[in-house]
Amino acid sequence: MSANTDDGLLIVSEEICEKVIRRPDAFSAVEAVFGAMARGDAYNFPVVREAIGHADALYGFKSGFDRAGMVLGVKAGGYWPGNMAKGLTNHQSTVCLFDPDTGRLTALVGGNYLTALRTAASSAVSIAHLARKDAKVLGMVGAGHQSTFQLRAAVEQRDFERVVAWNPHPDMLPRLAAVAEELGLAFEAVTPEELGAQADVIITITSAFEPLIMADWIKPGTHIACMGTDTKGKQEVDPALFKSATVFADEIAQSITIGEAQHAVASGLIGEGNLTAIGEVINGTHPGRSSAEEITLFDGTGVGLQDLAVASVAARLAREQGLVTPVAL
Ligand code: NAD
Repeated sequence: MSANTDDGLLIVSEEICEKVIRRPDAFSAVEAVFGAMARGDAYNFPVVREAIGHADALYGFKSGFDRAGMVLGVKAGGYWPGNMAKGLTNHQSTVCLFDPDTGRLTALVGGNYLTALRTAASSAVSIAHLARKDAKVLGMVGAGHQSTFQLRAAVEQRDFERVVAWNPHPDMLPRLAAVAEELGLAFEAVTPEELGAQADVIITITSAFEPLIMADWIKPGTHIACMGTDTKGKQEVDPALFKSATVFADEIAQSITIGEAQHAVASGLIGEGNLTAIGEVINGTHPGRSSAEEITLFDGTGVGLQDLAVASVAARLAREQGLVTPVAL
């Protein structure tokens, strides 16, 4: 059943999103839309992001259309740094879904929980398609809000036995350790050099503006998912890594402008032609990893179509489970 029914608008709260959508749902939705993007069946529209000159807020829209999934919509929201003091999350977003046949608004879906879920699904998709099958050690760089979502989704992709972690603010690591323990995984706080030497898969999910992980520290065969860089100027890894790795991205245009690849491209280390859309691997038009020694890097910048994909699933599940009542607009 689609959310695009003709009997009213669905309002799907954050609470309902948390109740209905599971990690495998988000994984499938994100994997499918990455595939559709690479086939040219789905496209993201230009992102709008503006400082509004009030409350230090950054406000913007991410929108797109997935012709394969028949999902049209926009995620609106942004970052309000003063929210924490008011007991609210600093990142605030809402997804609006429209009927692609008529333009009618079909659903308003809380976007905060879904953003974390779809971002974790993105790195999980990259691990599923690019990491070595025998990966045992997961390296986490970052220990903020997103990190636990990342950890939970990643460990479902391989038989990980151990988590090694480093964060610029070590006092934040216990929350990651608690999730690893809950998942039955050994956890160790290490230096970033040790992390590079031990991890088979690395996820970076920080707000850094300078490289935290150097190319020389990464061992052959590693898969690294760079997830924190989603704005011009942010940076998590040594640009030299882009030279030694085979590089994939959710969306190449976004990766080279606001993603982790921006620095390697700006310094002339690589060009746009060195990046492959992960959707090509999903669709089987690119072989993905070619050897056990190859380093693979995924630049997950976060595209609007990911938000729309998971919001559409949440709206459909909420409706199927009788948790929402359509209202007339
Ligand atoms: P958070 O504020 O909860 O945690 C921030 C993390 O970055 C912590 O690990 C913190 O120690 C670290 N950090 C903070 N300032 C730093 C600095 N100056 N240098 C190095 N590290 C620093 O944030 P979060 O919600 O966990 O998000 C983490 C990052 O992921 C943010 O940059 C956010 O914009 C980005 N993000 C990306 C996507 C995507 O789709 N790619 C989606 C959501 C969030």
